[in-house]
Amino acid sequence: MTSTVLVFVILHHQTKHSAMKKSLILCTIAFMSMIMFNSCRNTASKTDSADDFDYNVDRFEDIRVLRYKLPAFENLSLQEKEFIYYLSEAALCGRDIQWDQNFKYNLLVRKTLEAILLSYKGDKDNDEYKAFVTYAKRVFFANGIHHHYSNDKFIPGFSREYFISLINSSEASLLPLSDGQTAEALTGILIPVMFDPILYAKKVDQSQGSDMITSSSVNFYEGVSQAEVETYYSGIVDPADLTPISYGQNTKVVKRNGKVEELTYKADGLYGQAIERIIFWLEKAKEVAMNEIQEKELALLIDYYRTGDLKTWDDYNIIWARNTTPSVDYINGFIETYNDPLGLKANWEAIVDYKDTEATKRTELITANAQWFEDNSPVNPSYRKETVTGVAASVINIAMLGGDCYPASPLGINLPNSNWIRTQSGSKSVTLANITDAIDIASRGGGMLQEFAADEDEIKRAMEYGSLASALHTDFHECIGHASGKMAPGKDANSLKNYYSPLEEARADLFALYYLMDEKVIELGLIPDHEAAKAEYDSFIRNGLLTQIVRIKPGKDIEQAHMRDRAAISHWVYEKGKADNVIEVFKRDGKTFVKINDYQKLRTLFGEMLAEIQRIKSEGDFEAGKAIIENYGVKIDQSLHTEVLERYAKLNLAPYTGFINPKLIPVTDANGMITDIKVEYCSDFLQQMLDYGRDYAYLPAIN
Ligand code: ZN
Repeated sequence: MTSTVLVFVILHHQTKHSAMKKSLILCTIAFMSMIMFNSCRNTASKTDSADDFDYNVDRFEDIRVLRYKLPAFENLSLQEKEFIYYLSEAALCGRDIQWDQNFKYNLLVRKTLEAILLSYKGDKDNDEYKAFVTYAKRVFFANGIHHHYSNDKFIPGFSREYFISLINSSEASLLPLSDGQTAEALTGILIPVMFDPILYAKKVDQSQGSDMITSSSVNFYEGVSQAEVETYYSGIVDPADLTPISYGQNTKVVKRNGKVEELTYKADGLYGQAIERIIFWLEKAKEVAMNEIQEKELALLIDYYRTGDLKTWDDYNIIWARNTTPSVDYINGFIETYNDPLGLKANWEAIVDYKDTEATKRTELITANAQWFEDNSPVNPSYRKETVTGVAASVINIAMLGGDCYPASPLGINLPNSNWIRTQSGSKSVTLANITDAIDIASRGGGMLQEFAADEDEIKRAMEYGSLASALHTDFHECIGHASGKMAPGKDANSLKNYYSPLEEARADLFALYYLMDEKVIELGLIPDHEAAKAEYDSFIRNGLLTQIVRIKPGKDIEQAHMRDRAAISHWVYEKGKADNVIEVFKRDGKTFVKINDYQKLRTLFGEMLAEIQRIKSEGDFEAGKAIIENYGVKIDQSLHTEVLERYAKLNLAPYTGFINPKLIPVTDANGMITDIKVEYCSDFLQQMLDYGRDYAYLPAIN
């Protein structure tokens, strides 16, 4: 594997965690089916070896689209397969919700793009049409008109006039026209939404000093200011409640007749049409659940979708978190709050997965030793947990991605998010093996490592140990890192406000980095020797000081929490180790490189920083937390940025990766009973988007 670095980059940035959730509450179409079958090929047969499976599906702008395999799916029992199938349908039925949550005109834009793509009979090689298709792909990938990662609005590479001509030559029956609405009226709405660079410029805007709600385009709030929302929630949240519900997680806040109120996502509420379909498939899944607990769990989830009651959601999560044994599991709900500038509202997401039994042995070994790692960590003993409980970790294979997890998939997940439920009932932590493998294999030969590694030794180490070291880093980050440490009496991590997220990610990363070079890891047989740890140190520092900024536009700051975390760690240890030349930054042929000279000393620095970040969290020290993130994790050296972007551009690689799903097809007997579920691996990104737009469109264009 020649391009392990790229794998690392993506691993680190897409790993999804959960730690902060309530932390900001107090402050803050049918004729296409023939084409579809032509585009899919059944590769679930034994003849499809790992070697000839082509993971690469599409490439446009800064995006690479892959597909993933379902390893040993054919060996699952009929009940397991059926369960996966029903849950997968439930995972796809909520797709429109996520689109509408991202921005209120997203579904209108998408339905129009679909109508044009399906109607177009002209020359597909002309430059404007090609620019249109690229724009459509970008929008499909991002579940909306804003970049999934940078949050910036996409600016079309074709003219307004051309767009109007495309709409006018499209079949009117396919356009999302409301009663009596003309194509001109539709165009009148869409032109400013799509083409005006100022209007709705950012999906999420967390810049200091702005009203984050009015400056953000996410559709969680309408007609209310940040101050009004904060006042509203401070009026209903009881700070003394030790087991609070996730206030505001499944609602949209609006103002009606001068009063601030919440519209709840539920079967007879907002997004009800899609939620009804999710319930339909969950009901079927419940009948074939893996065990009684899972059946009970699904009953609660269905009840929650019907009522929108967040207490039921908590009850569901408590059972789900404790139910660590089923071979097939899932996530389905309003869960992650990354896209809400106030950290309250959650996007809809879903995955369906089944256990990778071999790799799970590795994470079980780590988890079994969780207490040892906690007791020996370099943090102040009073901030260590006396008992580390319930960190369940398994390696899973994804069978279906939905909502916010599609097409850009996380690589690790740690849920539930509610802090008190995590404390009382533990959490489930998973690493997504087939997704990670697809990225790893597809990335070989990319050239990133060769361009940015300081020397041949570093490249050799990365090739030999890179994948293992990276997987272990993720395991430690998810299984132990987020679960470690405790708060000082009377202190509240909520006081870290917008710095909570990057600090929490840094804490988990530092925990992983510190322990990767511990003798214990060799003793446990997790790695053969320290070379593996060195490979991860090389990768982490190279990424934090140099390569991760390839994802940022010239002149912009680092905003994403995981990127801020990695920048802060790398720059902090670089500065603290400068006197001893621990990390060297040097130039060769006009190019900048970084080289670690003293790995043991670097490990010590990781330990020191872990102790300080844990202190900051335990004491809720806002000023110190802000100082670390703002001083080390936000700003980019402009001349270095220009240089890195130029070197990266020559490699012609995509900084972001996403996936298309396989198609699960039930095989039935004469009585309509399911006898098997077949897997078809699709290979056309745009086609899957059009298929989903036809098969899973349950919401109106404007909600
Ligand atoms: Zn994390």
